[in-house]
Amino acid sequence: LPQSAKPDATVHSVCGYCATGCSLKVHLQAGRAVNLSTHSDYPVNLGMACPKGWEALTPLAASDRATTPLLRGRDGELEPVSWTAAMEAFCAGFKDIQKQHGADAVAFLSTGQIVTEEMAFLGSLAKFGMGIVHGDGNTRQCMATAATAYKQSFGYDAPPYSYQDFEESDVLIFVGANPCIAHPIMWQRVMRNQRDPEIIVIDPRKTETAMAATQHLAIQPKSDLALFYGLAAHLVSIDAVDLDFIAAHTEGYHDFVEFLADYSLETAAAATGLDYAQVSRLARLIASGKRVSFWWTMGVNQSYEGTRLAQSMINLALMTGNIGKPGTGANSITGQCNAMGSRLFSNTTGLLGGRGFECAEDRQTVADILDMPVERIPDRPSLAYNEIIDAIDAGTIKGLWLVATNTAHSWINQKRFRRVREKLDFLVVQDMYHSTESAEIADLVLPAAGWGEKEGVFINSERRIGRTRKVSQAPGQALADFHIFRLIAHHWGCAELFKEWSSPEAVFRILTRLSHGLPCDITGIDGYADLEREGGIQWPFKKTEREQPGHELKAQRRLFEDGKFYHANGRAKFIFEAPRPMPEPVNADYPFILLTGRGTSSQWHTQTRTSKSDVLRKLYPKNPYVEINPEDATALNIKPNSKVCIRSRRGEVEATAVILASVQPGQVFMPMHYRITNHLTASAFDPYSKQPSYKACAVTVHNIHS
Ligand code: SF4
Repeated sequence: LPQSAKPDATVHSVCGYCATGCSLKVHLQAGRAVNLSTHSDYPVNLGMACPKGWEALTPLAASDRATTPLLRGRDGELEPVSWTAAMEAFCAGFKDIQKQHGADAVAFLSTGQIVTEEMAFLGSLAKFGMGIVHGDGNTRQCMATAATAYKQSFGYDAPPYSYQDFEESDVLIFVGANPCIAHPIMWQRVMRNQRDPEIIVIDPRKTETAMAATQHLAIQPKSDLALFYGLAAHLVSIDAVDLDFIAAHTEGYHDFVEFLADYSLETAAAATGLDYAQVSRLARLIASGKRVSFWWTMGVNQSYEGTRLAQSMINLALMTGNIGKPGTGANSITGQCNAMGSRLFSNTTGLLGGRGFECAEDRQTVADILDMPVERIPDRPSLAYNEIIDAIDAGTIKGLWLVATNTAHSWINQKRFRRVREKLDFLVVQDMYHSTESAEIADLVLPAAGWGEKEGVFINSERRIGRTRKVSQAPGQALADFHIFRLIAHHWGCAELFKEWSSPEAVFRILTRLSHGLPCDITGIDGYADLEREGGIQWPFKKTEREQPGHELKAQRRLFEDGKFYHANGRAKFIFEAPRPMPEPVNADYPFILLTGRGTSSQWHTQTRTSKSDVLRKLYPKNPYVEINPEDATALNIKPNSKVCIRSRRGEVEATAVILASVQPGQVFMPMHYRITNHLTASAFDPYSKQPSYKACAVTVHNIHS
């Protein structure tokens, strides 16, 4: 490099896309990022990055960045305004609604993409400062099921694993997960496993991960709960259970065994469409006494019975003692870069730190730590995301504030959201781009800084808190979400409540105090410097632990090594329930099951950022496509690359046919990255987590030109 192009400094920053939480080395010239490389010492990615990470800086320079606040004028167009005018419109719009219809008539929907300090600030500002009760995160769309399952089974939302467990497991069972493309660096950790592991993939679709596995169990959609109950029943019947562990550390086992009387390997094979020999082989692997780990993502979480499904794997791990030891666990892989931060500190449906709004003691504890009148803290939990949409439809919520999320693309049954939006009196969208589907239909757009333009921490899938750094200046008048919240507090008239919330690090220190005594206790972390020195720190890390003589922080730590769970009696619970029928089974009019999911490692969710990179765009088809099995394509006279129509009860869309045996006959697959996919999906939800069931709805497919 010529001297003029050489970086003069380098900072380490955790990537802002997925929950893997890779650290990147960002190289600076005069304080501005010029390029990046990977960080070989970081215990997460060990010098690796996926295409999105390598291209992390590109979306910052996109031409459609929101650079000034935009307010919809009398002519219906979004017009640039000053921050002062934007704040006046924000406060007047929401205060008028609250005055006319009550404080509950305004809600917010946030994200797993902003830093933890901003999430906590947003939730606290909205609830304690503005009197808003209802706010949820887009994490409802990806992780609510895992969070609910862990809370019910373990007593707290606590993914138990460390990434080292990928390398230390003998049998890795991936359920509804495609880490090859969804979490490519985690998959590389699997590839580093030297124990000659069995890699089992349970998924209706032959995904990239299924192709690389030692065994792919191509089950019928939504038959996984029956599969796991059948496996559990068989393990009981052959005494392949860890009775000592069960007796010492769990409760509800005998009821579970009674419940399993109706299940067997035969019922599992019948429900899933698998051969008995395949199911039997899986049972033998789990019974082998080797280190068995279960890993799941959206194929489990985005299901109408996802909570019980996640718990059916937790039950298997508990009954075989596969938890709290190297290479084991019932392990939910998180999706967004800061979904775990959202789960702990977003102050949306749970009070800061995973406490309960309805618990007077919890409210008082938080009020004391924040030095805030306890009356400021709502004594009711928020409506969940879907209930907020329903309340807008019913006319009881009239103002909505979207922060770093693109509901008009990502929410299930998208046409309904667009219809419901018409019932809102005031929609504010706070985002990096003015061109998202949501920003385009907003009344007010607040321009926000993106990843790389602000400071804070993300919490990754293995509970590691890592620093993300400001390496670039946000364009125009765009501000870090943190500073937008400070402006709002000032204009709303509640800044006095947040006088200690002066910087991201000041808020991080408040969060460490709020964590005291909770399972996520991080009182041992003394500010950002500790995080940088240690290469991120997994929670929990208590002050008492830090103060132990000769203490040395291990780079990788898992939970439950002492067999103690978070329920009051220290035991984990067996929780179970009979499988339910699919909400929308196929019939003569809609004979195909539509599967949805991630299509590539090079795109992220609604492509808001990744579509801004020429490199990433070239790695993925621009136009929507649908995977169709060759047998079905022949029967329907559909040729490769021809246009087909896919119709559900909610709408119809066009896509390019990709004829592939990746899907089974009677099933089709569409990636979620295209805005049309959620025209088709159905409004079905898990009753416990309220997570949408994106994965299976009934559609019909036909050749447009026939
Ligand atoms: Fe970023 Fe995830 Fe890729 Fe790592 S795997 S570089 S965290 S997108």
